[in-house]
Amino acid sequence: MSWLLSRLLKALGAALFGFVVGATVRAATGIDSLGLAFGVLTGVGLVLLVDAVRGSRLLNWLRGTQQESAPRDTGLWGELGYRVERAMRDRDRAVARGKLELAQFLSAIEASPNGVLMLDPQEQIVWCNRVAADHFSLDPRRDLRQRITNLVRAPAFVAYLQAGHFAEPLVLGNGRGPGTLSIVVREYGEGMRLVLTLDITERVRSEAMRRDFVANVSHEIRTPLTVLSGFIETMHSLPLTAAERERVIVLMNQQTQRMQTLVADLLTLAQLEGSPRPGPDRWVGLDGLLLRIAADAEALSGGRHRLALKPVTGVELAGIESELLSAIANLVTNAVRYTPEGGEVEVAWRLLDDGSGELTVIDTGPGIAREHIPRLTERFYRVDGSRSRETGGTGLGLSIVKHVMQRHGGELMVQSEVGKGSRFRLAFPAARIRQASDSALGDEAAFNAAALSDH
Ligand code: ADP
Repeated sequence: MSWLLSRLLKALGAALFGFVVGATVRAATGIDSLGLAFGVLTGVGLVLLVDAVRGSRLLNWLRGTQQESAPRDTGLWGELGYRVERAMRDRDRAVARGKLELAQFLSAIEASPNGVLMLDPQEQIVWCNRVAADHFSLDPRRDLRQRITNLVRAPAFVAYLQAGHFAEPLVLGNGRGPGTLSIVVREYGEGMRLVLTLDITERVRSEAMRRDFVANVSHEIRTPLTVLSGFIETMHSLPLTAAERERVIVLMNQQTQRMQTLVADLLTLAQLEGSPRPGPDRWVGLDGLLLRIAADAEALSGGRHRLALKPVTGVELAGIESELLSAIANLVTNAVRYTPEGGEVEVAWRLLDDGSGELTVIDTGPGIAREHIPRLTERFYRVDGSRSRETGGTGLGLSIVKHVMQRHGGELMVQSEVGKGSRFRLAFPAARIRQASDSALGDEAAFNAAALSDH
């Protein structure tokens, strides 16, 4: 109320001035009413003039952009200007804060791995993030205010939006390759809808793989089990001669072996998937591994092949002995199993210029047609199912080899041509290879260092 006092004082000043002017006019003219009129007009005019000047200064400022501060004035107009300016600055700050929060909120949604899309009651796109735009093949700017059903025409999606029952998500193939989307819609505000999309291609694929795997395992176990129960039935119901009994027992034994191999391979795979990567500090002599593998392969071949399985490499590999043994043995055993009598199987080692190395298993067997090669490491994939089963294969061998190599930072590569044999190469990175002599030196140095530190 400080302005009121100053205003009263100013009005009093103006009235005084008016009085003086009125008195002067009256004295000069001798007419009372003229003096009074002049006095009142001068006093009121003075107040109006001062108000008009100060009011127009404030009005000019308000009409402008308000970049500079409000006109500094005293009294009523000064306080009015100050209050208006403060209210405007407060409002500007609140708007800026709101804008910042909205931008942060939108960039958080933008960073979401899910697609987010907002629809107005007419199903027009109000906003969408990049992920949703990608999922629906939209342009996040150009397609704003467009009806979503004009742009995404998948009948299942249109029907889902129109039905308005959003309790269950919609699973939709997005029409670009094998992509599969899960779409959830939530209603909010007045007729607004929030559409959330999630790419579930990987999940669908791994669920399908798991289903296939369970179906394959069941099938692989059921086959020998059916055979076994048939034999048991036969032994139970038919009087067999001793020779027949012997034959049946041999066949039953084969089926049991088959199941045992299958379970062992399944366990190996489960172990490979569930255990941490082998460290680079446990060294395994390759020549020792090859000697053990060669002995088994010779027994399996029974002299039917020419075998050259023991190159002297003088190399040690960093990794887990049982896994490396299993990977190399799988390749050598396959080569012997699939190569007909009289064929050759060879194992070769090569150290490359960059320090990496390759162990190659070469055979002169039937070879593999090109279209099968990329699928060989899939679980239970067989080129020739009956040959594989006849020779005790499980269809899991190469998938174990691939896993072992991945875990050791290496790679399995296959070259083969029908009728010309096959080459299975195991590539090891330089960091996992050392010469056995280096290790002896290393051990000696370590021993000397230890001996010195003892003294
Ligand atoms: P399996 O237990 O059936 O041998 P693998 O995973 O070891 O399973 O091999 C997958 C398939 O690759 C085999 O069924 C076979 O058809 C083919 N294969 C593997 N090694 C050879 C080879 N040396 N020569 C020809 N075919 C092979």
